Amino acid sequence: MSAPCAPQSPQALPPGTPAPLLARVQAAPGGEARALALVDLARAVRDLSLDAALDLGERALDEALRADSPRAAVLALVGLGFVSASLGQPTRALDAVTRAQALMQDHGLHDLRSAVVNVRALTRVISGNLPGADQDLRSALALARENGCPLDHGHALGNLAWVANLRGDAKGALHHLNLLEEHVHDQSDEPLRASLTLSLHENRAHAYVVLAREAGRLGRPEAVQQATQQGLMVLRAAGAALQATPHPTTALLCGAHRAALRLLCGDLDGALQAAHETQALNTELQQRLYLEPLLCLPEVLAARGETARALAGYTEALDEVRAQGRHRDTQRILRRLSELHEARGDLEAALQATRAALAEAQAAQDQISEDAQRHLNVELRQAQADASSWQDRLRCAEVEARQDPLTGVLNRRGLEEGLRALQDGGGPGWSLLAALFVDIDHFKSVNDRFSHAHGDRVLQAVAGLLSGTVRAGTLLGRYGGEEFVLVAPIRAPGQAHDLAERCRRAIEAHDWSGLLPGVGLSASVGYAVERPGRLSLALQAADDHLYRAKAAGRNRVHPPA
Ligand code: GH3
Ligand code: MG
Ligand code: MG
Repeated sequence: MSAPCAPQSPQALPPGTPAPLLARVQAAPGGEARALALVDLARAVRDLSLDAALDLGERALDEALRADSPRAAVLALVGLGFVSASLGQPTRALDAVTRAQALMQDHGLHDLRSAVVNVRALTRVISGNLPGADQDLRSALALARENGCPLDHGHALGNLAWVANLRGDAKGALHHLNLLEEHVHDQSDEPLRASLTLSLHENRAHAYVVLAREAGRLGRPEAVQQATQQGLMVLRAAGAALQATPHPTTALLCGAHRAALRLLCGDLDGALQAAHETQALNTELQQRLYLEPLLCLPEVLAARGETARALAGYTEALDEVRAQGRHRDTQRILRRLSELHEARGDLEAALQATRAALAEAQAAQDQISEDAQRHLNVELRQAQADASSWQDRLRCAEVEARQDPLTGVLNRRGLEEGLRALQDGGGPGWSLLAALFVDIDHFKSVNDRFSHAHGDRVLQAVAGLLSGTVRAGTLLGRYGGEEFVLVAPIRAPGQAHDLAERCRRAIEAHDWSGLLPGVGLSASVGYAVERPGRLSLALQAADDHLYRAKAAGRNRVHPPA
């Protein structure tokens, strides 16, 4: 343990450090109060100077350990995890997260779990395990909801959007951001609103970059145009919010998105300017977690035909991600380098980069399984701590893996497994299978008129109504957003229409006035019947019949009796 910490001198702190927080540290003589004050100060300073935040975080941890306060220690470690990750020190970040988790479990500090899991997700992004990060953030979100912590709740939603964007899933990102927008709307604390609004705008702009790129790949110039215009509009809103609440990291990321959007809409000069500004700010901030600011300049240079300078920029980015051991990102940059070498006719260098990328792909896979293994071990420890048997935990995990978290009905994986079992043949009392697709009518307008949170509750209610309608032995799952699938063993073809009609009626007849005042809800159903071995044909036909039910005016079953 280091020597007792000297009083923090104001000179050592970056300009802009909030005076009241500093005063709180100076007023606290020692012990837990001082440790907690240092944690808050470190958090406030982290967007002004990462080095200063690291220093304060370490002081906070020392103080917490000296004061024997596990709560303050966990909070300090969470902050240190974030700052180390931002400084490009993933090993140190992971170490902080692991220690935070162990302390939290040993001392039963369950209310800190969402903060810990949120930062654990960050380390998983760095190690390339995006599905793992997504899973962490979903549990962070659930925990924050449970504990009524609006800050963690907002962070989890913003980070879920971030991870969705990194996975190229812009639609998923926009969904999380709609929820975040509603969450912000519900808050009365102004600084909290302001900080979450920045995250909202920044991630939304990112989603439009992802959408526009995707449209470009699909060769749809009008969609590229639309997405870039929307993205630039969001960036204007972000600019206004940043004026009111300066936040260098958000400004940095918005700069990178601006460069990308300008490039995508063909404004090469605007893109170059934005990329230069972003690079300058990145150098100043020394952040190494987000790669967009590092990659935007070489990307613009490549598009302008300045290949040699683009290669130099990508090589610099490559050195950075290699130093951090980020194999997935290394592989991505190597692929890009290979393309550039190839474009300028240097096939030897292109081949070399491709070979290196292949090796990185293997390393990335190993890294992800190692990460998964490490966290699995921690999860199992948690299970012991919870005093529930391992078998129970595993059984729960198995059930969860097959369940749609929102509605509790089967997810795609659960459905597929169930379908495989049914496909193998008839059972006592049945020889046919009915496949049904149930799709809520005009569901988009429920989200638009009320809110996405309302929409989610409607989906839960519909799932409940459907499961109350079917018999045991029928598979019920959520297929897409507002589309449910049912597969029921039946004896005679006529039973399929009856079931479809019962499902339709259950939704139409339900009293929606509590949830959706002033409007009703209906669904359209397509169904088909086949022998078990031909189930996939039945599913195709049912899907086709759903579209006919929609085309014929909705709130109906197709084929009619
Ligand atoms: P139609 O009658 O033709 O089916 O119209 P629709 O509006 O129901 O269908 P559309 O496919 O145009 O829109 C589906 C909407 O479902 C869009 C999307 O925002 C929403 N959605 C998808 N998944 C979720 C979810 O998990 N929660 C919420 N609240 N909305 C979702
Ligand atoms: Mg629909
Ligand atoms: Mg649909």
